Amino acid sequence: MSTQPSCIFCKIIAGQAEASFVHKDDKVTAFMDIQPLVRGHLLIVPNYHTPNLTELADEYAGHMFKVGRRLAQALRASGLRCDGVNLYLADGVTAGQSVFHTHLHVIPRHIKDGFRIHFPESYGQRPPRATLDEDAEIIRSAVETT
Ligand code: 5GP
Ligand code: ZN
Repeated sequence: MSTQPSCIFCKIIAGQAEASFVHKDDKVTAFMDIQPLVRGHLLIVPNYHTPNLTELADEYAGHMFKVGRRLAQALRASGLRCDGVNLYLADGVTAGQSVFHTHLHVIPRHIKDGFRIHFPESYGQRPPRATLDEDAEIIRSAVETT
């Protein structure tokens, strides 16, 4: 499996950098985020270096979500404050990605945890159905060619 010597998550997987592990199997590793947005915030990473979603192999993508679901369930039962969970993945700089070894955030939520997702002011305005249909067609065409 490929690794990238300068990648912090590759180092963590290889045991060359410190981390607080939650889960490890043949495909993914989960460990606590070093700067938790909320106590219990953890990351799930594929066990090989892959910078973004486009290059992430299907079986790893599926497994990351499976483990994310399992750890969300565990967080709710853990005794840490957790009345809800956000699964979050930033793909690309514009989306807020800062570590280029793709990863799924699992963020436990509780009331007044201070974590907010900021929506643009335009949110709430519903475009006409024709616009949504047009966008769906654009994306369907792209699915066929990628
Ligand atoms: P991103 O911004 O790419 O979606 O998320 C990167 C996450 O990796 C951040 O939440 C950041 O706190 C976390 N992170 C960065 N460096 C380290 C590290 O050395 N160890 C751990 N455990 N997490 C890290
Ligand atoms: Zn890596």
